[in-house]
Formats: sequence, C-alpha cells, structure tokens
Amino acid sequence: MVIKTATFVCSNTRIDKLPAPEMPEYAFIGRSNVGKSSLINALTGHRHLAKTSQTPGKTQLINHFLINDAWYLVDLPGYGFAKASKGSRAAWEKFIRRYLLQRENLQCVFVLIDSRHDPQRIDLDFCYWLGEKGVPFMLVFTKADKQSQAKSDGTIAKFHRALQQWFEEVPQYFLTSAETQLGCEQLLDVIDDINR
Ligand code: GDP
Repeated sequence: MVIKTATFVCSNTRIDKLPAPEMPEYAFIGRSNVGKSSLINALTGHRHLAKTSQTPGKTQLINHFLINDAWYLVDLPGYGFAKASKGSRAAWEKFIRRYLLQRENLQCVFVLIDSRHDPQRIDLDFCYWLGEKGVPFMLVFTKADKQSQAKSDGTIAKFHRALQQWFEEVPQYFLTSAETQLGCEQLLDVIDDINR
C-alpha cells in the first residue's frame, strides 16, 4: 500500500467522543518507549505525525489519524511506564479496555514489542487478555536495526514459546525498524489485505 495522505483527526480521553466508526481502524499499542510513535511516522512517511519521546505516560490520549481517506490509524497510550501511580494505571486500563472491547470498526491491534528484550510479563499478559477477549491482534517487534538478526530472531522465538502455552495458533508477527523501514511495507500490505 502506498500512503498518499495521513492527517491527524483528533485526540480523545473519552471513548464516547471518538470519530464515527465508519471506516476500518487499526490500533497501535505497546510499552512506553517501545518505538510506537517512530514506527507510526515511518509507516506513514511523516516525520512528525505522531509525537516521539513524550514524557512517558504523561498524556493518556487516543489519537486518530486518517490514512488515504480510507482507514484510521490509532495511536493508543503506552502502558507499563515505571513512574505511573496505581491510580493512573487503573484509569489507563479501564479506558483502553473499553476502547478495545467496544470499538466496532477495530480490525486489528498491533502490539509493539521491543525486539531487544526478553518477553516481559506485562506484554504477555496483555496478549493473553486480547486473545481471551477475542480481539484480533498481531505482534510488531521494533528497533530491529539496534542488534543482529540472530538476536531479534531469539527474542521472537522466546515470545513464540511463551504464547504457545496459551494459544493454539500464535499470532502473525513482523520484525520492524523505524530507522531502516524494515517490515513497514509488509505491515501496510496486511492492512491493505484486511481492508479489501
Ligand atoms: P514511544 O514512546 O513508544 O512512542 O517511542 P518513540 O517512538 O518515542 O521512541 C523511543 C526512542 O526509541 C526514541 O529515542 C527513538 O528515536 C528510538 N527508536 C524508536 N524506534 C527506533 C528504531 O526502529 N530504531 C532505532 N535505532 N531507534 C528507535
């Protein structure tokens, strides 16, 4: 898929204020600092569409971007930031869960995982929860340029093994880099396929 237009639509803290669910929607989510904003910018070819390196967890917003006047790319707030209070974590969970469970035009959630690190409990728990609730999701391993292919493959294999305990079929995954654009075309092609 070629991205011809990518425009910011709105930021929301309330799910009842989201754009009308008239177009297919794809959400991106992951731990704070996983490289989500960088990947969104790389995918859309806009250097500043999503704001990178914000203070982790400061803004808990759902950001909608309209792509090619045909589908929404949704930037969900990052989870698992160390400094978050219990209260703000609980509020995040409630807000995101409601969004993920209620958004009728949501086609797929892309769960971003840092390809440099061993599986983290918080990521695995989140995937398990999505699977349990029947929310379609795929895995996107980020920052592949930061280490060897063998190291990334090792992380992916460990993640696979962890998920195999729960899922008969392990979700589709991508290895990506916002720096080199690795995996970006494949990811957009999958969105294209689902949209058809
Ligand atoms: P977010 O908090 O998940 O939105 O993460 P950001 O996109 O702000 O990225 C966090 C940090 O990782 C920034 O310093 C980025 O420059 C860096 N980063 C993100 N993606 C990549 C990547 O693919 N390769 C490299 N080398 N650095 C990256």
